[in-house]
Amino acid sequence: MKILFTASECVPFVKTGGLADVVGALAPVLAKQGHDVRVMIPLYAHIPQTYVARMEHVTDFEVQLGWRRQYCGIEKLEDSGVTWYFIDNKFYFGRSYIYGMGGDEYERFGFFCRGVLNALPLIGFQPDVIHAHDWQSGMVPALHKIQYAHLPFYMGIKDIFTIHNLQYQGIFGIKEVQDVLGLGDTLWTNDKLECFGCANFLKAALVYADLITTVSPSYAEEIQTAYYGERLDGLLRARRHQLYGVLNGLDVEDYNPATDPFIAADYTPENIAGKAECKRALQEELGLDVDPNIPIVGMVGRLSNQKGLDLVDYIIADLMAEKVQLVVLGMGESRYVNLFSWAEGEYRGRVAARFTMDSGLAHRIYAGCDMFLMPSQFEPCGLSQMIAMRYGTVPIVRETGGLRDTVLSYNEFTGEGNGFTFFNYNAHDMLHVIQRAMKYYHDEPEIWRTLQERGMNGDYTWDRSAAKYVELYRGMLGETALRDPSEPD
Ligand code: ADP
Repeated sequence: MKILFTASECVPFVKTGGLADVVGALAPVLAKQGHDVRVMIPLYAHIPQTYVARMEHVTDFEVQLGWRRQYCGIEKLEDSGVTWYFIDNKFYFGRSYIYGMGGDEYERFGFFCRGVLNALPLIGFQPDVIHAHDWQSGMVPALHKIQYAHLPFYMGIKDIFTIHNLQYQGIFGIKEVQDVLGLGDTLWTNDKLECFGCANFLKAALVYADLITTVSPSYAEEIQTAYYGERLDGLLRARRHQLYGVLNGLDVEDYNPATDPFIAADYTPENIAGKAECKRALQEELGLDVDPNIPIVGMVGRLSNQKGLDLVDYIIADLMAEKVQLVVLGMGESRYVNLFSWAEGEYRGRVAARFTMDSGLAHRIYAGCDMFLMPSQFEPCGLSQMIAMRYGTVPIVRETGGLRDTVLSYNEFTGEGNGFTFFNYNAHDMLHVIQRAMKYYHDEPEIWRTLQERGMNGDYTWDRSAAKYVELYRGMLGETALRDPSEPD
């Protein structure tokens, strides 16, 4: 099968969140299974020079955006069995930021989506399936269906769209979007492109894609409700027969405590001794009191309201009244930067917070902590809890989205479980569950060890998810029957 991925970020080239991990890991897995997989992302100024130096110029052309014509270069790099294309335009992507700030996001990503579609005949790649990811690629299925699908080259191509986070939709003024993408007035009704008086790139994809997926079965259900639906729940309910939840995997080579070059000592599920050394090294590195008996609770992720940080704010004094250390790595909203900076000063030697993007430190935190806290308000899939488990760090999560699908709370009666969970978005529920986890950490070392082992032995490979995507691609192309999403797979 010929598969084209379009996304706004992708490891190892550029990453702000889990989307980059997913695209960067799934594409090579599909390629390994024998598919012709190509990926298109913008050529940002952030992409390290080592990759840029390896790129080869394929072609360039002009993209018409309203009355403007913009240069669009296609650069290419081959790696891991995948052909990676980079859409080059210095005005749009040569900036010091990846998202936001400029106020012309509709034009940057409108250009990207049109550039992707225009490039295909010029690079001689006619995919069977275009798999677009998140709102920045949302106009790919929409433009394809509206303006390209009648042309012979584009006729048989099917569109699948993956929601990695429904909160980010790409909402703009209709006039502005019409100005750059030339979509006539008759398209701006609420069954097509219009969305609460605005243009909405994500909604456009939800209307025009042949199939929609999101990154966990629970999130696929949740987003059909008003609480999680971000005002698109009605549309998602209407499309529920084409809406599938496919759980993400991990790059298990990259996140492997047995071979990880970033951590102080290697370890395996059978011999976990190296984890204690990782803990000691982490305490030293971050200026925490070096004490093997104090449990360290870790958090790695965007400092956004999504991640449940308000709950931590609410009970931080109660939490720190326990014998515990807290480590936070993340970038984001200033209120949370302030919170954790304050906590670091207030609880010297017991709280450490770093506000940078540092993947080496992230690995050392996953390895060096005892518990990993993720009390998200909503969580499409969440990779961090899976990474933590792979490193024998016991997750404490809220039962939502992908957290619910990957972490099963320890049941003292049946002995089942691989972590600790709570259901309500409530700070004291979270605190009590952290206290419950600490009780097992201190008093039940054997049970603790079992939880660590179960986490480390979990199957986080991409193979299963990749097979599910292939099943959906084949179904779209009419090669096999598609199952109804409400049936268990
Ligand atoms: P989201 O996609 O909502 O940001 P995920 O849990 O799905 O959350 O993925 C986040 C990924 O980004 C994980 O691999 C996590 O380790 C990584 N990450 C987040 N913030 C940082 C940071 N400041 N430094 C290093 N890695 C980070």
